[in-house]
Parts: sequence; C-alpha cells; structure tokens
Amino acid sequence: MSTTYEFPTHFGSFIDGQWQPPVGTMLPVVNPATETQIAEVAESDAAQVAQAVAAARRAHALGEWRHMPVAQRQKLFRRIAELTLQHLHELAWLESLNTGLPLWYVRDGQMPRVARNFEFFADWMSQNVEKAGIQDGAYLRYVVREPAGVAALISPWNAPLALASTKIAAALAFGNCCVIKTAETTPLAVSRFMDLLQEAGLPPGVANLVHGRGHTTGDALVRHPDVRVVSFTGGTETGRAIATAAGPGLKRVDLELGGKSANIVTASANLDAALDGALAGIFSNNGQQCFAGSRILLDRRIAQNFMDAFVQRARRIRVGDPLDDHTDIGPLANAAHHARVLEHVRQAVADGAQLLTGGDRPAHLQRGYYLAPTALLTPHNRLSICQREVFGPVATVEVFDDFEEAIHIANESDFGLVAYVWTQDLAQSLLAAQRLEAGVVLTNTNMTLDTRFPFGGYKQSGVGREGIDGMRHFYTEEKTVTVAL
Ligand code: NAD
Repeated sequence: MSTTYEFPTHFGSFIDGQWQPPVGTMLPVVNPATETQIAEVAESDAAQVAQAVAAARRAHALGEWRHMPVAQRQKLFRRIAELTLQHLHELAWLESLNTGLPLWYVRDGQMPRVARNFEFFADWMSQNVEKAGIQDGAYLRYVVREPAGVAALISPWNAPLALASTKIAAALAFGNCCVIKTAETTPLAVSRFMDLLQEAGLPPGVANLVHGRGHTTGDALVRHPDVRVVSFTGGTETGRAIATAAGPGLKRVDLELGGKSANIVTASANLDAALDGALAGIFSNNGQQCFAGSRILLDRRIAQNFMDAFVQRARRIRVGDPLDDHTDIGPLANAAHHARVLEHVRQAVADGAQLLTGGDRPAHLQRGYYLAPTALLTPHNRLSICQREVFGPVATVEVFDDFEEAIHIANESDFGLVAYVWTQDLAQSLLAAQRLEAGVVLTNTNMTLDTRFPFGGYKQSGVGREGIDGMRHFYTEEKTVTVAL
C-alpha cells in the first residue's frame, strides 16, 4: 500500500500568489480507476481570467522577475527543481490518482522530468548571452531580446504537470509572466506545483493558474488583449480553434498537436529491439501519447512472426490499479474518452479491420475506464482508424512489400509528428530520415525528449517547436538598436 496524501477537495484558481475561493460553476475531478469523484474545481469565468492576466501584466510591468539578476533567477529555478524532487512521490501520487497513469511511471519518468525542465533552464540562463552587435560605418547596431510579456500556457491531461512544466520553465526563463490553464479534468498535481513555485520564492503574479473548460476559460484567456503569446499542447481541432481566436489579436501561437505516427519495421531490423520499441511506443502512458507509434508497418517477410510475438506480449501486459507498482497500464483518462476509443475500435472492425487482440475492457476490471491493449490488422491505410488519432492503447498493423511502399504509407497522413524506423541498414535509415514527413524521426529507438533539440510536428501536428531555439524565438521579442556614432 503506497503512502497517500491530503489534497483540497474544493479549490479555485491561483492568482497573484493567492488561492481564490472556489465559487461559481464547479467541475468534477474524477479518479478514472474507480469512476468516483475525488474533488471539484471552480471554473474561472472571463472576469477571473481577466484578473489573472492583470496580475501577470502587473508583475511584468513591475519588472521584479525580468530584471532579476541571472544568478538569482538561476538559484530560484534550482530551488524549484529541488522542491519538485523533495515532493516527487506526492506529485506523482496526485497525478496518478487523477489521470490513471501508473504511479511508478509518473514517479520515475514524468516527475523527474519536471525537475529537469527547471535545471535545464537554470544552466542555460548563464549561456543566454546575445552576441555583440556590429559597427557598420557610422552606426553601431545590436539586437536585444526582451520577454514577450504575458504568456498563456494551455496544456492537456495526458501528462499534465510534465507538459505544463516545460511551458512554465521556458516562459519564465525568458523573463515572461504567465497564466496557465491545465486540463479541467486533471488539475491536482499542477495545482500542488503552484504552491512549490511560491515556496521557492517566485514573486506573486509571475505564474498564475486558472481552471475551466476550453470553450469558456481557455477561450477567454486566448482572446484576452493583454495576452501576447499562446503556447498550446492538445488536439488538432482545438489548435485550429485557438489559432482562429488568437488571429484577430495578432498573437503569436505555438501549437503542439496530435499525431498518428508510423512505426516501420524493416526485414533487416533487430526484431527483439523493434518488438520492445513497438510495444512501448503504443502502450506506454496508457497509450495516450502524442508521439505514440500507433501505425505499425511490417515488412511482409517478417510480418507474421512479428505480429504473433506482438500479440503474445500485448496479452501479458498487466492492466490494473495505477497505484499498484506491478501495473503496466492503467485506465484511460475519463469516461468520454473511454467511450470514444471503444467507438474507434468498433468502427475499425466494421470497416474491415481484423481484431488481433484486446478491443474491450479486461474481464477482471468491470469498474474504471480500462481497455485491454488492442491491436487491429488493417487492410489499407485509408481506414478511419489509420487516419484519426485514437489516443489510447490501440495499434493498427499493416503489411508492406517494399521500402518505397512503407514510406508512402507513413506519409499518407494529415499528421506528421513523429516517425519510427527499425532497420540495421544505414543507407536505408538515412533515406527514411530524408523522406519521412515528420518533425521527429527516430531510428532504432523510442522517444527521448531533449530540450536542446526541436520537438514538434509537420502538417496538422503543429506550428512551432518546443526546443530551445524555437522557444527562444517564441517567448521573446527582438529589438534592433542602432546608434549613430
Ligand atoms: P484538448 O485539445 O481537448 O485540450 C487541451 C487543452 O486545451 C485543455 O486544457 C482544454 O481545456 C483546452 N481547450 C480546449 N478547447 C479550447 C479552446 N477553444 N480555447 C482554449 N483552450 C481550449 O486535448 P486533450 O484531449 O486534453 O489532449 C489530447 C491531445 O493532446 C491529443 O490530440 C494529443 O496528441 C495532444 N498532445 C500533443 C502533444 C504534443 O507535444 N504535440 C503532447 C501531448 C498531447
């Protein structure tokens, strides 16, 4: 039995360093493993969103944060990282309880990443020195980068704190103040994290948190005239709505959206490694990952053996209580999502896909939004299940005859986030990297996030990149200064 923690069962937004009383529309916070309500969160209406933006704007104008000496800001970032690690188990437990992600998985993976996000930017701050300008005849010219101002940070429920913390660390590292809106269904760990930011000494108003649904709270935040940049991670349709809402205000948007990534296994692959990779690629994070390798493409020469092994291993995956350290995957995040994923599977079978394994809740789990790891053999790539993001533990499998065909199928998608290739042929791997239409190509490995490098998608998978260079451009304004000598 793991340690449990107290958490507020009624709570509101966090503005200007203060928790606001929970008033107005209350939204349920549910444990997806038990289907029971564990808390309620007050939805921030437009007036409260305006209050949060005003607090951020005030803090920005005061300049305490953006003009704080780098050494002091670094110290504060390191303190945030330290506090995160001190509260690692608590944060992981809250996240697991609220999302259904296995506790061990969040504790050992996502929460250390939260700390690393702040350590990364603490180190980076000392190197963030603009190169000197140039003397051009009678002029001296140089460029300064200034914080953009108030940043809106909107994030989803599949890795709530890990994703929000990347945005918070980046926005603050570049001297901005921010208003965060995490997913309304999974507010627990992000809310607790606000206390830690405060404890670390972040001045009031620098980071504020509002809660609520997208079309109400989120939309009010995006449209607020004092918000200068909007960093969004979530679904493609929402990204479109946000870009549309941000357009008239000419706000800068960064959109990190959905995926339908191909996972190509060639005949020359190390098949054991490819099998491990394919299983982790689709089933980790309860299958709810933007970069999931959800379309497995198999060379005909190895297809049958690979499929048999994949199905056998998928059946051995332990589905169950996320708080149990023996669990491999927990429930899906919420009831509506569970119903949607089941409908995708039903439709795929109606469209002619063959169910290889899974497709329903495991027999021993009659309560909770569970789904057994699922695989479907699809006759072709135009099936709706191959084109739409399912965002659950559901892999499609398709067979190809030659490498050209594999590349064609991989690219035959509106998405272009990630592509995986398993091959021991160097030329083939380089050719694949050249031809695949994806923001990230992974050869013989699964995803390892590294903020030094860009992460983001081609096509409908996004606009912008969450790597250090992309974030630097996104979170700052450039100013060219010319001095007549
Ligand atoms: P979602 O788009 O429904 O919601 C994401 C966030 O946006 C939530 O906080 C939501 O309340 C808010 N929102 C919704 N409508 C809004 C609106 N009109 N204006 C402002 N805010 C609004 O996504 P989700 O279902 O929470 O998350 C799953 C999706 O996120 C998947 O498509 C997944 O691929 C994507 N995702 C992408 C990445 C990436 O880095 N590319 C990472 C994780 C998840």
